[in-house]
Amino acid sequence: MAKIQMKTPLVEMDGDEMTRVIWKWIKDILIEPHVELKTEYYDLGLKNRDATDDRVTTESAEAALKYGVAVKCATITPNAARVTEYGLKEMWKSPNGTIRAVMDGTVFRAPILVKGIEPYLPTWKKPITIARHAYGDVYKNVEAKVPAGGKAELVITDAEGNETRHLIQEFKNSAGIAQGIHNTDASISSFARCAFRYAADTKQDLWFAAKDTISKTYDHRFKDIWAQIYENEFRAKFEELGITYFYTLIDDAVARVVRSEGGFVWACKNYDGDIMSDMLATAYGSLAMMTSVLVSPTGAYEYEAAHGTVQRHYYKYLKGEETSTNSVATIYAWTGALRKRGELDELPELCAFADRLEAACVKTIEDGVMTGDLWLLSKLPTKKKVTTLEFLNAVAERL
Ligand code: NAP
Ligand code: MG
Repeated sequence: MAKIQMKTPLVEMDGDEMTRVIWKWIKDILIEPHVELKTEYYDLGLKNRDATDDRVTTESAEAALKYGVAVKCATITPNAARVTEYGLKEMWKSPNGTIRAVMDGTVFRAPILVKGIEPYLPTWKKPITIARHAYGDVYKNVEAKVPAGGKAELVITDAEGNETRHLIQEFKNSAGIAQGIHNTDASISSFARCAFRYAADTKQDLWFAAKDTISKTYDHRFKDIWAQIYENEFRAKFEELGITYFYTLIDDAVARVVRSEGGFVWACKNYDGDIMSDMLATAYGSLAMMTSVLVSPTGAYEYEAAHGTVQRHYYKYLKGEETSTNSVATIYAWTGALRKRGELDELPELCAFADRLEAACVKTIEDGVMTGDLWLLSKLPTKKKVTTLEFLNAVAERL
């Protein structure tokens, strides 16, 4: 059979530890036998980030913007222990943080559902995708202690130097704490555009929630910007696709999410998204079954698994032991990227290959062949725990 040809290269961002090992196996066993893979390769492994003074990370993100589609392996975010382990020149920043800053994107996370691994909430039949705003609020705050007898004020200085003061609190009888947070119209607008575009792309309803009844200026600004962008840029498209945009209060949204069947995109402010994405990952089963895609406001996509480099398994692998590491989210990073490349380059065969590879993964697990993390969760009567490589070969057979 002739291999499927590509037009534009994918931006390939290699990574670290167990996921780097799996990365090569996925290409060798599942992709390259069927696709004449064209990639522009960037080695984001920690050694090469150190050797290039981390320029490779920025360059890979710029390539993602240029070509439009990237696929990324999990990477180490160095801490003090890693500086010693790898003899690093510096404690380089989180690659995902750097890529997010260059692409100015929003992160969407969606679980992969398979029979036998049931969500903790039996009402959930379809995936719920979380879109998390990744700028500002409490993640870029300024905070201080206030002594008893003191006061805290919010001071806004305009371009001409005029000050407006708002009293936050007089701390008459007790010391306390105060916090300043911010966001920008520009960032809220790109967040909204990314979410509207993603919902339209995937033909799912979009929910957005904040606490505008209590936060009448701050959260209300989010609500207003979203409403305006929807009316001006997306309403016609949504109506044509038969999908809806729905704003509600965050507490009402949480109650509705629990009662829902799933199958929609839930856009969250930064803190809500941090909390709710962990809640959703656990409620759907396993972090190893969670996909993640960063979408820039210009429509560039970077696909990856939501989990890390699975360090504990890597050390076993280095000792020559077999591991049972789940490769599904990393395979889905590849299928997501290949499908998007196929859509943009009008290569239906490439899209169909991505669909078949995903179906083969699901079929393998539903046949009872799975890695240890899923084996612990699966309710299938006959289930078999296999090694990392045995799983990939079982998927290849079905593919
Ligand atoms: P992790 O790699 O996600 O792994 C944490 C634990 O979760 C593992 O030890 C394993 O549990 C389980 N697990 C995660 N993915 C799995 C998979 N595919 N198959 C089977 N089990 C899986 O998180 P971490 O150990 O906290 O972080 C390791 C490194 O990854 C760190 O250097 C961190 O900086 C980096 N990281 C990178 C990204 C990214 O690039 N997007 C994200 C998060 C973390 P058991 O050990 O119980 O089997
Ligand atoms: Mg979190």
